[in-house]
Amino acid sequence: MKKRITIGIDLDGVLRDFAGTVIKLTNYLYDTNFDVKEVTSWDFSNDLIKEKLPAFDMWEMLKRHKSRLEDADYYPNGVKLFEQLRLTFPDDNVWIVTDQITEFRKLTLEWIIRTLPIQPTGIIFSFYKDKCKLPLDCMLDDRAKVILDCCKAGITSILWSQPWNTLKNPEQRTFYSLLMQSSKVFQSFHRADNAEEVIKIISSLKEKA
Ligand SMILES: [Mg+2]
Repeated sequence: MKKRITIGIDLDGVLRDFAGTVIKLTNYLYDTNFDVKEVTSWDFSNDLIKEKLPAFDMWEMLKRHKSRLEDADYYPNGVKLFEQLRLTFPDDNVWIVTDQITEFRKLTLEWIIRTLPIQPTGIIFSFYKDKCKLPLDCMLDDRAKVILDCCKAGITSILWSQPWNTLKNPEQRTFYSLLMQSSKVFQSFHRADNAEEVIKIISSLKEKA
């Protein structure tokens, strides 16, 4: 019998549309007209919003308007990916691994239960730096920093393509150059933007398990 593997999947930026929620709420509260298409960096509250609103504090805003996060949209391709993972690997662990401040944990849990057609086998609230320390065989995340750390830890890592992690962005060029420094680290790295590709990567990982 093949070993049971553990797959970690991130929430914000993969399943839940965090950026879109922040942009919509900012426009509503500050009468601005940001477009989610302008979000091309991971730290968009600093790089984009603070350019126009220097005193902007994203976390304070979200804490004051938690219900917006509760009602956040989901990414159809992310939810499809999650469903496919659960159906394709029914005997394996599929964990949602997400970095949430204490105030947002309960509503995030409720969002997951309400939104996902099949529930994960586990939910881990983990600080982003600690994701690579979890007993994972595979991690899928939209944040390059997390993926780099997981690759270094020898975890098969999948960077989920989003406009804020493309090569056009200087921050990402640094990420790729760090990744290229070791062929062993680079071997753990994959990039995907659809469920089929992810299933293929994990199936080949399972073959080796
Ligand atoms: Mg994320």
